[in-house]
Amino acid sequence: MSGSRGEGTLVPVRTKADLRARVSAWRAAGETIALVPTMGALHVGHGALIEAARGAADRVVASLFVNPTQFGPQEDFAAYPRDEAADAAFLTRADVDLLYAPAVAEMYPDGFATTVSVPGLGDRLCGAIRPGHFDGVATVVMKLLIQAGPDFAFFGEKDFQQLVIIRRVAADLDLPVRIEGVPTVREGDGLAVSSRNAYLDPAQRAIAPALHGTLQDAVRRIAAGAEISLACEEGAAALGAAGFDKVDYFACVDARTLAPLAAPSPPARLLAAAHLGRARLIDNIALAL
Ligand code: AMP
Repeated sequence: MSGSRGEGTLVPVRTKADLRARVSAWRAAGETIALVPTMGALHVGHGALIEAARGAADRVVASLFVNPTQFGPQEDFAAYPRDEAADAAFLTRADVDLLYAPAVAEMYPDGFATTVSVPGLGDRLCGAIRPGHFDGVATVVMKLLIQAGPDFAFFGEKDFQQLVIIRRVAADLDLPVRIEGVPTVREGDGLAVSSRNAYLDPAQRAIAPALHGTLQDAVRRIAAGAEISLACEEGAAALGAAGFDKVDYFACVDARTLAPLAAPSPPARLLAAAHLGRARLIDNIALAL
């Protein structure tokens, strides 16, 4: 049978019917299931999610789907790096049990009309800059969760707003799944590992770690008593001075509601998004208070 561990490179499962059949067989055998949704171009960050999933459940399903509905018309959907064979080899080495890689028509057949939207959480920060992005994310993730029916689903803290939104939707819609966050995997110089780092030329790559460094500086200053709004303004200015082309936001928010914080109160998170050439980089860190 294709797609099983120990039988060569994983062969992608393409349909939700096949996915359900495979997952049902595991369930019938009393096994637990974890889902790791990805858009491919897999790297060590995805590897950390898979490792966490392996530790939590008997079976790990990884999905590979570049979701058109979360890209804006001017964004990089067409250019997004795609190499399914390399991703299948990566997932095989990572001991994943099943690779689910549906076509767009399997996910969005003719007549598809439903959108999952989370006003308040989905329209601030990245959502203010990328209108509709989190509707696309929430909709596709809910579909994947319903299709796979996992006990656990793993998401990176790197996309912190996404993690908060998915936790909210899963709770609001009573999905019987545990949403687990995994700490951001970084390069040695602090840059968060991302498929989009491939867009950076060597000069931009040298500038990029300043995103993490500037967030760390701001956390230190706020912890030492600096006013939050001032620390964020200065953080944004420091990114410009470091060579970033444009700063979308540099903000301190409540880590559960994403509401802006005027005064330090836990749990707090500092998030930033900034453009560097063709790449739009995001990062965030906890603000221990
Ligand atoms: P993507 O393929 O970019 O949609 O990411 C798939 C999942 O991997 C998301 O839950 C991301 O948050 C997570 N992820 C991406 N990069 C990292 C990283 N550097 N560290 C931890 N998780 C990551």
